[in-house]
Amino acid sequence: MALIDVRNLKKTFPIHGGVLGRKVGEVVAVDDVSFSVEPGETLGLVGESGCGKSTTGRTIMRLYEPTAGEVEFAGKKLFQLKAEELRQVRRDLQMVFQDPFASLNPRQKISTILEEPLIVHGLGDAQERKEQVRELLHVVGMNESHASRYPHQFSGGQRQRIGIARALSTRPKLIIADEPVSALDVSIQSQVLNLMMDLQEQFELTYIFIAHDLSVVKHISDRVGVMYLGRLVELAPRDELYKKPLHPYTEALLSAVPVPDPDAKKERIILSGDVPSPDNPPQGCAFHPRCPHVMDVCRETRPIFDDAGGGHFVACHLHNAKA
Ligand code: SF4
Ligand code: MG
Repeated sequence: MALIDVRNLKKTFPIHGGVLGRKVGEVVAVDDVSFSVEPGETLGLVGESGCGKSTTGRTIMRLYEPTAGEVEFAGKKLFQLKAEELRQVRRDLQMVFQDPFASLNPRQKISTILEEPLIVHGLGDAQERKEQVRELLHVVGMNESHASRYPHQFSGGQRQRIGIARALSTRPKLIIADEPVSALDVSIQSQVLNLMMDLQEQFELTYIFIAHDLSVVKHISDRVGVMYLGRLVELAPRDELYKKPLHPYTEALLSAVPVPDPDAKKERIILSGDVPSPDNPPQGCAFHPRCPHVMDVCRETRPIFDDAGGGHFVACHLHNAKA
């Protein structure tokens, strides 16, 4: 059984305008997104900025109120929980943010930052919490001497380790990591990714790992989903997606990933045009103005997110048997 099941998730934000700040429209940031993640699995969620991947993560966490849809997590319907029940569930559901500096209180010592979730959830007495803070620092590759320092005294990579330790403190089942390595140097990125994979083993964690780049999630993911303009356009087991992408947008993203072997030359697909504004998405397939394979049907009819076999889902008329 899936640990988390996201069904037809939708999130809109109002657009305000004029001197009175009236609502003049809305942006559909997440549009009918469905996926599930099995216990112990890592689902990579990839797309350009503004595609709705962060909003998907934050809406699941109920940092944003959902517009429509349902999320079932460990058998509980998250959007129906009352404040107190939600607080309980939050223990099992944690988030790691892109910018650890912005998400760590600059006036708090690391010990306070790591202890806070334990206090909030009533876990352990003062002595036990102190032990736990020490242990948390150890498991993320830091030590006790770091406990009495402040966030600004650490490098970006260390701050992200602290962010991960904080997320781990309540012993969650699922961690939603929103571009956890995007702000870090490439050499530090792989250290943090390796740490996250180690911790996944040790603590039997399930990850939703959000990134804007297919190369970042390649190693860590079991399956990968690709988002475009608020919609999930492709979802497949990792190797399948990288070897046999079906959606033209995924093909274009993959063609931009550098290959280590210079003989394995591939043609870079340059997409024409920018990502359209999400407050006025194109009709039919939202990707059609940029798609090298666009057909008449693509301008009219939105493709179904359909199973192409073997757990490989794609929303594209090229592969849509029922269209
Ligand atoms: Fe391209 Fe049409 Fe497929 Fe959209 S549905 S990705 S426009 S071929
Ligand atoms: Mg983002």
